Amino acid sequence: MSCTHHVAGRCTNDLALPLFGETPSPGVCSVCPHSTAPAEGRTILQAIAAKAKRTAAYVNAEASLALEGPVAPDVAERRLALCTACPSRLPSAEDEVGFCGACGCGERSRARLTVKATMPAATCPKNLW
Ligand code: SF4
Repeated sequence: MSCTHHVAGRCTNDLALPLFGETPSPGVCSVCPHSTAPAEGRTILQAIAAKAKRTAAYVNAEASLALEGPVAPDVAERRLALCTACPSRLPSAEDEVGFCGACGCGERSRARLTVKATMPAATCPKNLW
């Protein structure tokens, strides 16, 4: 069941209209504070929306590396120094820095902090860099 304010593809809630407009997507509805959708359904939609957001951020970061090349060495070093001191860092036996435990990227080769720190558009989920 979707939100009862969502009628014929249009939002009818006066409080939500200024936030998301007249025709919000299901992903937008899943994060709307005024939604009447059951919590379980919203949780699934929120998970889908979060994954889509992570995927878009990953594609953007890889594209920035491909188009702009890696960041300057001092920028990557500063990023890695912050990661090394961060409590969210997940150590790895395969390199000295490891992975971020806060971004949701998992422990894939392209998610290594030594790789992510070189990507111009990569960002820290805690806004440390
Ligand atoms: S990216 Fe940010 S949150 Fe993740 S380990 Fe580095 S400093 Fe910590």
